[in-house]
Amino acid sequence: MDSIATTAAAAFESQSAGVAARRQEFGLTERRAALARLAAAIRHNEAPLVTALAADFGKPEAEVILTELLPVMQEIRHASRHLRRWMRPRRVAPTLATLGTSARIRPEPRGVCLIIAPWNYPFSLALGPLVSALAAGNSAIIKPSEMTPATSALIAKLVQETFPPSLVTVIEGGVDASQALLELPFDHIFFTGSPAVGKVVMAAASRTLASVTLELGGKSPTIIGPDADLENAAKWIVFGKFANAGQTCIAPDHVFVHRAVKDGFLAVLRNRIAKAYGTAGTSPHLARIVNDRHAQRLSDLLQDAVGKGAQVTMDSPSQGRDLGPTLIEALTPEMDISSEEIFGPILPIIAYDNIDEVIDQINARPKPLALYVFAKARPQIDRIIAATSSGSVGVNLTVAQFTHTGLPFGGVNTSGIGAAHGEYGFRAFSHERAVLTNHFSALPLVFPPYTARVKRLIGLIKRFLG
Ligand code: NAD
Repeated sequence: MDSIATTAAAAFESQSAGVAARRQEFGLTERRAALARLAAAIRHNEAPLVTALAADFGKPEAEVILTELLPVMQEIRHASRHLRRWMRPRRVAPTLATLGTSARIRPEPRGVCLIIAPWNYPFSLALGPLVSALAAGNSAIIKPSEMTPATSALIAKLVQETFPPSLVTVIEGGVDASQALLELPFDHIFFTGSPAVGKVVMAAASRTLASVTLELGGKSPTIIGPDADLENAAKWIVFGKFANAGQTCIAPDHVFVHRAVKDGFLAVLRNRIAKAYGTAGTSPHLARIVNDRHAQRLSDLLQDAVGKGAQVTMDSPSQGRDLGPTLIEALTPEMDISSEEIFGPILPIIAYDNIDEVIDQINARPKPLALYVFAKARPQIDRIIAATSSGSVGVNLTVAQFTHTGLPFGGVNTSGIGAAHGEYGFRAFSHERAVLTNHFSALPLVFPPYTARVKRLIGLIKRFLG
């Protein structure tokens, strides 16, 4: 075995050895204490976190606090407050066939879990799932993204100073580390990343039949109806699209705007962009593209679209990995940008006349992670929601659905399997074990031998229940 495989196997063995003991000893008090330790460590590391994310991709401090630190702290607080209720076995009423028994559902830890994180929110998407894993009583190995090395090193240090490796440990590295870990028989794999790698993870999980949560991506459409509040739409779209320089899984990927309000919307959108980021292209309020490869990918996407007839209607001076907000129009299906997840600060604007065209276009593509609707007429909003599918929906806002700890966060098919956050995250990392206890069940009356009397009884039951 090479060294990364040996390290991965040793980390896994150390956690596996404690599974049976953890089932009995890692109760409500211990889990809450673990979460409190994590919260204290995060508070203590706020300044290094801001520095690490600035080094990795120029993420503004305000965005680090809003989108990396606060989501994890919020998850910790919510889990600590509700954990007692989540952990409590739930009673289930008996059915006619099981009269004389009592039924309960016991949420139990899955065991040893693997968390593979992406680079775009490298801190919150590694430690957010850890909160759920610990709340549910598991141990976890975290594999942060290699593309944000400063944040990866910080996560490793923070975890090492906070938890014994038999409970939580970090294995740093790239695809080789990820693949070495995927060889091991984890009880649950929680993966956040691209749909392409999601398939690799699911294939690996099929070898051991590990359960999976896949938090994937895709092209999240945004629809602006003829009656939308355009100022409000521009405000939310600019934040949702350009925060993190567009490198957000639930960012509006492209905008369908009703032709009657297109010019008005473009005018307020341009104003809003100028107000938020200025007109110099680079801005201290705008993160950078994560690396040269992704900057090149975005430039290629734009060149391909322009070469095939797209018009750039708002361009910002860009420099290396500093890409400014860019608006493009006149898209056609042949352009790569029409099918690839953009994941950068380029926003296609597509005019429509009839909402049915938009619904058809959305339904012709893989189910997106998020769908946004800006409109006032409730029937119109409801119709769009009912006619389409997506992981989540934002009405008259963008991305804020991620911050609601009471809502499941996840995709559907290509955009993901399973859900995260709050109780949904706790459940993702729990096995719901059914326990049925006999008190005075009458079922033995129909056990063999199947005499005439038993058969008559079965006939009676069939008439009653069938
Ligand atoms: P990615 O799939 O390239 O990488 C994610 C993780 O998988 C990394 O840790 C990486 O080291 C590992 N990995 C990469 N290739 C691998 C392979 N062949 N085998 C095993 N492991 C491998 O994703 P990314 O570029 O880091 O993140 C961007 C993608 O993630 C986008 O598609 C985005 O929409 C999606 N995303 C989804 C969510 C969500 O919550 N649904 C959140 C953030 C990002």
